[in-house]
Amino acid sequence: TNTLMSGKRGLIMGLANDKSIAWGIAKACADAGAELAFSYQGEALKKRVEPLAASIGTDTLIECDVASQESLDALFAALKEKWSTIDFVVHAIGFSDKNELRGRYVDTSSDNFKTTMDISVFSFTAVARRAADLMPEGGSLLTLTYYGAEQVMPHYNVMGIAKAALECSVKYIAEDLGKDGIRCNAISAGPIKTLAASGIGDFRYIMKWNELNSPLRRNVTQEEVGKAALYLLSDLGSGTTGEILHVDAGYHVVGMKAVDAPDI
Ligand code: NAD
Repeated sequence: TNTLMSGKRGLIMGLANDKSIAWGIAKACADAGAELAFSYQGEALKKRVEPLAASIGTDTLIECDVASQESLDALFAALKEKWSTIDFVVHAIGFSDKNELRGRYVDTSSDNFKTTMDISVFSFTAVARRAADLMPEGGSLLTLTYYGAEQVMPHYNVMGIAKAALECSVKYIAEDLGKDGIRCNAISAGPIKTLAASGIGDFRYIMKWNELNSPLRRNVTQEEVGKAALYLLSDLGSGTTGEILHVDAGYHVVGMKAVDAPDI
């Protein structure tokens, strides 16, 4: 427990269950004294999210489907009503049809391309604009990305294209909102076993590969992503914006399979 986030109020979007990256970040923020609100996608998730929120002393749960601009408007209207201003937002949301997270990228359909870009990219921009209206004294925005934006990873396909666009939008948003003291960053997390990740083909193999070949010779945890998020969301990160921070056990610097790594 620390006081890095005491007095700060923030919204966490994308909590599905206790494996969610959003949960690792929420716990780190709550431990550091932040006051939190959660948004969740649809009634089916509510009963899973409610006890988690309660366990860190929050009862503010607001339904929001980021595919709907009206739903986003309602979310931020509810936050304005509750707090009038906020200090940070965490966007831990992504979606693509899992049938297209295997096979060839070139076979991606027009419909799923658009849906993937809308949910995984545009929603962050849509959130940023609305959040900025509630940040008169500045604030911090954070989203989650993956190395598949930078290099070709097996099965990541259209999600890689979406993450590249998301990372670029982080930089444009950083410029647009920087004048108002609002920072915007992303964490590029190594593979973590979550609901969303289980939709990616051969995900266990990808995790094993990262474990054997990253400089730290292991995978990262939700808690480690939470600690990095704390840096970006708190005053510790006051000089950092437009940044894509890798929390991946160093995997992104590796150019070739290590000599001591066994074949898998
Ligand atoms: P998760 O399944 O726990 O979270 C994904 C969340 O997105 C869910 O809460 C889901 O409800 C939400 N979501 C999807 N469509 C939505 C919509 N229309 N409206 C509102 N919410 C919607 O999985 P996660 O791995 O914690 O994913 C969080 C973020 O982290 C995603 O952006 C993902 O791409 C990214 N990420 C994950 C990994 C990994 O290996 N797990 C690595 C790097 C980046």
